[in-house]
Amino acid sequence: MSELAANLAAIRGRMHEACLRSGRTIDTVELMAVSKNHPPETVAEAVGLGLTLFGENRIQEAKSKIPLSPDSARWHFIGHLQSNKARDAVALFEMIQGVDSLDLAAELQKHAVKQSRRPAILLEVNIAGEESKFGWNPQAVLDALPALRAFDQLRLSGLMTIAPYSEDPEIARPVFRQLRELRDRCADRLGSPLPILSMGMSGDLEVAIEEGSTLVRVGTALFGQRPSRPVAA
Ligand SMILES: *Cc1c(COP(=O)(O)O)cnc(C)c1O
Repeated sequence: MSELAANLAAIRGRMHEACLRSGRTIDTVELMAVSKNHPPETVAEAVGLGLTLFGENRIQEAKSKIPLSPDSARWHFIGHLQSNKARDAVALFEMIQGVDSLDLAAELQKHAVKQSRRPAILLEVNIAGEESKFGWNPQAVLDALPALRAFDQLRLSGLMTIAPYSEDPEIARPVFRQLRELRDRCADRLGSPLPILSMGMSGDLEVAIEEGSTLVRVGTALFGQRPSRPVAA
């Protein structure tokens, strides 16, 4: 078995156990392979092992990597996106995880109309209020819902967060729980479901699943240590 195959089996096992503990079925949580800084050959190997969803956080890197990767791969943008990259993001990604301002949403709406595309979006929430992180504070998300709803070319599908880093995954549990509660309140206000909760990474995916994650974003535990530089354009 290759190292990647072994890592994938271990992650699937962790996901499965967490689902069992929380009375969920495994098909309620999707695994995203975070392929940033890894070459297209690595994506191809992962596709060969049955992975279909990939996450990238730089537009330039995605522009060069996506055309060299298998057609069956699906791509989400993760993390902070500058408004001046909105056009490329709409062209390249089926979902933009990490919409953190109304200005960015407006740019995405504009380019989605121009390109006749209907990208899904997730709102990034900075639950813990960390200075170093992008994302809305929880009250701001609730306040922004009417304005966001007017961007009718964007499919508002849920929320995402990056928990504070810690050796102890239990530290992240209240953050994940608050994201789920906020999602429920947002869905109530909108009067429509927000099915996706993107939370949990290599170190804390079990806790995230126990708290309701529907999409875990895993890089290091799958591909090993990331190369320190992005793949050159
Ligand atoms: C890099 C990244 C990940 C993956 O992190 P790992 O700890 O390597 O699993 C997940 N989400 C976002 C937004 C990232 O930028």
